[in-house]
Amino acid sequence: MYGRADMKRIRTRKIYDRLNGMLDDAIAGRFKETDYDESELSKLEVKWKRYLTSSFLSAQKIENEHTVIQELVTDISHQTKTPLSNILLYSQLLEEQPLNPEAENMVKEIRKQSEKLEFLIQSLVKTSRLESGTFRLYPEEKQLYALLEGSVKYAEAKAREKDIRITIKSADSKEALRAVYDEKWTKEALFNILDNAIKYSPAGTEVIINVIPYEMFLCIEIKDSGIGIEADEIPKIFGRFYRGKNVSNKDGVGIGLYLSRQIIEAQGGYIKVSSQVSSGTRFLIYLPKK
Ligand code: ADP
Repeated sequence: MYGRADMKRIRTRKIYDRLNGMLDDAIAGRFKETDYDESELSKLEVKWKRYLTSSFLSAQKIENEHTVIQELVTDISHQTKTPLSNILLYSQLLEEQPLNPEAENMVKEIRKQSEKLEFLIQSLVKTSRLESGTFRLYPEEKQLYALLEGSVKYAEAKAREKDIRITIKSADSKEALRAVYDEKWTKEALFNILDNAIKYSPAGTEVIINVIPYEMFLCIEIKDSGIGIEADEIPKIFGRFYRGKNVSNKDGVGIGLYLSRQIIEAQGGYIKVSSQVSSGTRFLIYLPKK
């Protein structure tokens, strides 16, 4: 025979198990309102069930909105591709015609702005796909040196134009430098940071890439002797479309660092930055070793 206290304990245990079950279902994303009959639940359980139902529905709504935004961005990218390519093509053809200096400048400006628009649309597609998880990253444990060389190669033409030297340094041998990363995307992230180092540095300076191994992470330091970033701007530079106050004379749309951070964090790494106005900037990119 069960006593009163035993019965109470059994009842409490049942409620506890059901609450726990609801939470487990919610965490696993399989919570269904219909799985729980309100007439069999206590007051607390009913409240719990209503709360979980509403949060499940809002999560579903957010998910649907994400899909709609994703499709919209893809549509915009598809629909603008042909007109944009045509604008670029015609402006190139116009540039080859004999034009007066004023018209020549206007055509150049049309081409420049169209290229910027094309870059912006591509970046938007990338960020939206990364955010929604449509773009998958495949991080693998492998050597790092080739990746650094590949990123430098991408940036070399621009560096040469400004007579900027890029040097890769490391205390360890090339073979010893290994990290876990997705080749294609990490190259893009590094390139964005390297490209900035060149863009925001005066001609004739040096950009140094240094690899520092730590116990859990491999740190890639990209150091320039450029214009630097004001302390109050540092927390903002990774924001989408943020551009520094003193960079309006340089081309850019303010998406590079946002994208780089997304890429690095998506594979378990992180980025840090320190800077001194007029003397230079140091980006530290940490990639996990395992
Ligand atoms: P963009 O270069 O197109 O403006 P980013 O997202 O790449 O956009 O960078 C955001 C801002 O961070 C830049 O506008 C600039 O103010 C600042 N920044 C980034 N890298 C550097 C750097 N190496 N030196 C100085 N400022 C930088």
